[in-house]
Order: sequence, then C-alpha cells, then structure tokens
Amino acid sequence: MIGLIAATAAGRRGCERLAAAWPDRTRVYDAPVAPALERAFAECDQLVCFLATGAVVRLVAPLLRGKDSDPGIVTVDEAHQHAVALLGGHGGGANALARAVCDVLGAAPVITTATDAVGTPGLDTLGFPAEGALAVVGRAILDGERVALRTDAVWPLPALPANVSAEAGPARLAVPAGRDTAGTTDSAMAKTGSAPPDSAVPRLGVAADSGAAGRGDRQVGPGAGSAPLAAEESAGGPQGGGDAGDARFTLWVTDRVVPLDARTAVLRPPSLVVGVGGSRGVSADEVLALIRQSLADAGLAAGSVAVLATVDAKADEAGIVEAAERLGVPLATYGAAELAAIEVPNPSAAPLAAVGTPSVAEAAALAASASGGGLLVPKRKSAMATAAVARRGPRGRLAVVGLGPGARDLLTPRAREELRRASVIVGLDQYVDQIRDLLRPGTRVLESGLGAEEERARTAVAEAQEGHAVALIGSGDAGVYAMASPALAEAGTDIDVVGVPGVTAALAAAAVLGAPLGHDHVSISLSDLHTPWGVIERRVRAAAEADLVVTFYNPRSRGRDWQLPKALGILGEHRAPTTPVGIVHAASRPDERSAVTTLAALDVRAVDMVTVVTVGNTATREVAGRMVTPRGYRWQAQPQGTQNTAATENTKENDQ
Ligand code: SAH
Repeated sequence: MIGLIAATAAGRRGCERLAAAWPDRTRVYDAPVAPALERAFAECDQLVCFLATGAVVRLVAPLLRGKDSDPGIVTVDEAHQHAVALLGGHGGGANALARAVCDVLGAAPVITTATDAVGTPGLDTLGFPAEGALAVVGRAILDGERVALRTDAVWPLPALPANVSAEAGPARLAVPAGRDTAGTTDSAMAKTGSAPPDSAVPRLGVAADSGAAGRGDRQVGPGAGSAPLAAEESAGGPQGGGDAGDARFTLWVTDRVVPLDARTAVLRPPSLVVGVGGSRGVSADEVLALIRQSLADAGLAAGSVAVLATVDAKADEAGIVEAAERLGVPLATYGAAELAAIEVPNPSAAPLAAVGTPSVAEAAALAASASGGGLLVPKRKSAMATAAVARRGPRGRLAVVGLGPGARDLLTPRAREELRRASVIVGLDQYVDQIRDLLRPGTRVLESGLGAEEERARTAVAEAQEGHAVALIGSGDAGVYAMASPALAEAGTDIDVVGVPGVTAALAAAAVLGAPLGHDHVSISLSDLHTPWGVIERRVRAAAEADLVVTFYNPRSRGRDWQLPKALGILGEHRAPTTPVGIVHAASRPDERSAVTTLAALDVRAVDMVTVVTVGNTATREVAGRMVTPRGYRWQAQPQGTQNTAATENTKENDQ
C-alpha cells in the first residue's frame, strides 16, 4: 500500500491524481501531517509526501528502524516539479516509486543512490530484446552483485558496470549438446535442441578483448577505485572486467538458446538472418513454422532474428511479407542475378526456372549476412516454403559527439544520450572531464592529451571496428576543426557512424556578442600548424573582399602571435577602422569574458587560444554595446509604411 500525505491544496491535488492513477494501491492520510505520517509509516510499504524534504526528514527521523523494514519514501515539491527518492531507494522501492510518480505528475525524479544516479541501465533498455530473469539480474547489477557476462561476440552495447564481468575460463561458450531443453528461453521451440555446430560459434568477444588494456584507459563510475569493486577494475573488459567465476547471476548476450534459471537473463543481439523462399500463395503460418523449426533445431533464438531476406520476385509474396511483420523485422530483397552469383551448398533447378537463381533461401541469407559467419542452417523445406539461417557479425557504432562550448545546458540532449549509449569514450582529457559525470558506470575512457589527434581518431575507429559502441567527443561541434574528419577519413563501411552536432564556438560567441552573424559569414582558423600560412591568408583576403563577417578560431597562442594582427590588417584594407570586433573568451564557461571593440582599437593581447574573434562586415554596427549585423533587407532601411510588395515577400521567404 502506498500512503499519500499532503498539507496544502496543491499537495492534496497531487494526492488525488496519484490515487486516481493507482486506485487500489493508495491510501490518502488526512492532515494534520505529523500523526498522519506516523500512521502511514507504520501501515504502508511506501509513502509519497507532498511536503518539503526537510520537514519529512524531521518527522520520520524518530520512526526509522532499519533498511529492511522502513517504507520507501518519496517527497514531492509544491509545484510538482520534482519527486525525490528520499528513503529506501532500492529496498524500499523509492527510486522506482519516484519515477512512477513523475510519470503521473509530469515531474522529474531526483535519485541519489549511486548506481541509479549514474544511470546503470535496465536490461530491457539496452537496445536488444531481453529474456529471462530480467528483474532479478537487473537488481543484482544495481546492487553490485557479481554477474557473469557471457557473450559470444563484442556487441555495441552501452557500458555495463564493473560487477558485470566476463567469465574467466574457456575461450568460447560451452553449451552442452543434447542438453535438456526444459526451462530454456525458447523451450517451446527447442524440441530437439542440439547445439549449433562449433564452426558457427564466434569467438568469445569480451574475454578476447584485451587490446585496450594498458593504454591508460580507465573505467568510470562507482566500480572504478571504490573499495568493494576495486579488484575487478584492472581486467577492464569493455563490457565488464574481472573474474566472475563465483558469480551467482548470469547475463548472456547470445543468439543461442541457453539454459535459463531464476538468476539468468539473456540479451538477444541482432545476429541472425533468415533467408526465405516460397511458392506463390504460401501462407505466413507456414513460413513462420518453418523458420521457427529451423531455428529451434539449431538451438537458435527467434529474438535474435534481425532480418528476413528473399529474392526481389518475392518482395510482394503476402505470406513472406506477413511473416516478417509478425517477427517484427524488415524484409530485405535481392536481385536474382546477385543471388545466383553466391555460392551455396544446396542449389536447385526449381527456383532457377521460377525466379532465375538456383538458390533463394540460402543465397538471400548469405547476401544479408554480408560480413557474417556463414550459414548456420542450410536450406530446409516445407510444402511451399524454404528457409535457411545465416549469422552476421556485430557492427560497431561510432558516434561523433559535439559537447558544445562548455556550459552543461548547451550540451544537447542528443549528445547526452549518445554519451550514455557508448561503452567507450575517446577524447581529449579536458573534454572528457567536462562530461565524466554523465557516463555510465563501466564506460571505458580512452583519453589523451593535446596533439594526439590522429591517434585518437584511429583508436576510435579501431574500437568501433571491434564491435564496440564508441563516442568520439569534441568541444563545440566535433566536426568543426575537430575530430570528425580525421576519424571518418579512417572509417569504412564496416561500422555505423552517427553524428551529433554541437554548438560551435562561433555561435556561442555570437550569442554573447549580440547578432554579429545576421548576414553571410565565415569561420577561419588561424592555426598554421597543419595549414600553410599562404592558404590561410588567401582565405582571409577572399573574406575581406566578399565583405563576409569573419570568426577567427585558434586566433593566437603563445608561440603564434603575428597571425591575428596580420589577418586583421587584411580585413582592414576593406573595412573601416571603426568596424566592430567582438572578442569572446571561454564562451559559456565560468571564466567567460567578452568585449566589443573596433578594428582600430583591438588589443590582441586580450586574445588567447580559448577565444574567438568575430569581425563585423561593412554593415555591422555596435548598438547599445552589442554587435549587430543587419540582415540587409530593404524594408529594414525604409521608414514604416513604405514597404513594397516584393520586399514583403522577400521577408516572408527568409524568415522561415
Ligand atoms: N570544435 C570546436 C573548435 C575547435 S578549434 C568548436 O566547434 O567550437 C579550437 C578553437 O575553438 C579555440 O582556439 C578557440 O578559438 C575556439 N573555442 C572553442 N571553445 C571556445 C569557447 N568556449 N569560447 C571561445 N572560443 C572557443
């Protein structure tokens, strides 16, 4: 029973909303608050108090008995903005209750227990279908219990905390052939349950993945360095580290049917590709039955089927289309000529005559598995359908993530998501410091100092190629004078790449300065480290002649001090000495400084490497201390009421 307590009208409204949402689970305790709380504390498993946190602390303090018996307590503020899991976050269920309250009230949960606060993922939120004892194993992960991770390849999963660790021991999975399949995840399917042939078992990815150890990588989160888990830290596997030999819980990441018990959960990676063929009019039931039997006989799990594949000519075959829908996977189709060129174990004359390729099921499975591990199940037939199963290898994921100029609230929600989606972070140490608190526990951090750009780019790509979910981070936008280009110059088609834009320094600075970028503008880096000065000068000259507003990145450092005056001189040949110039140091950071001055008055000593310099064009003005570059529309220059139609239309068009 959840006790609901309030002192104010707003609080009582909150109670009513929760009581309406959970009619059989709640009991409202009427004021006065102190005796109400005392009674509710004794009678309920959980309490939601629409009271100040401090007040609740004082009231319940004398009532506290112990972790095992005290109710979980959530407090909610007067405006229903926050639900604070105050007491009994895990055991009392207050963390979950706070989230549930937020779902009803539209508030934000405040969770302070370590693992939850840093965001240890629920097993059903990792992006793969999950089966088995999810709640039990999920709880064990949260509670820091040792959980054995058994994975048959490196998958681009988010980080798991250090207590979830690869099993020491055999280099590949041992699933006993001919085991009793009762109680397996797919027991209904696994009637004859034999293990897949050895050749089909990929390497044990996590155990094999020691490549990054010793490169100064660090684990993030409570597991790293804190006493109870310290022993597991050094092994540093990407999805956990250490010897989990005595683990009582098991988390599998596999496409195979594995024995399940009350302490075992399974994540199903998208690793199986099913090639299907069918005579005209084949039913979805027949296609699905054949697929399920083929998987079951090979000890493979339907949850890992990522795609159905067939020949183009069958793209509209209703039974095949419906089978894909019912499995919840896409249907990929291939041309007959493409399939005919693929070598298969069981070609036959019938499909050659019907659709122009000697194999549909096997060839389509192989085509869709691309870089994968070959056929696991050769062609099987029913009256009107054929099926074959192939495995495809993991595709790593490289997210190139811009962190923005520095302020936390200028980090986009999408960037934040990607940081939490990753199991490996690659970046400059000072940027990593900016976001370390956002990373999931167990995230492997590969940080390096200034100047190691190429190495960082290569590392990020190599980690993704191994199958990991990697976030390569950069300040501002990671594609602007940053890591995206060297990384993507190295990356091939074998990994997925995701770009997350960030607020680049020019924009952060412009917002500080006013509206300097209101018309055409350009960014120019004055760093001649990798670019000959002649090239830079040519671009500055072109910008000067084209009357573009210019933002200079990398404007000046201790060893590079003549470039900025030189560049400003070139602009000065085409702009008045009174042209406004904005200087912004450390935009959006605590030590932000800015000034609006002029080309003639600029003191370059105020400029360093954490600064951008924005030079106005010939129309830029200083208005009330702010830089304003007019958008240049005729109506702006005209007195009110004299706008012509064309100009009005122009405005509409450009204001979109
Ligand atoms: N990728 C970054 C730019 C990297 S180049 C971005 O998109 O912002 C590094 C230069 O960016 C610095 O020399 C400085 O000129 C500029 N810069 C980066 N962050 C800045 C900030 N917060 N304030 C002012 N300038 C900044």
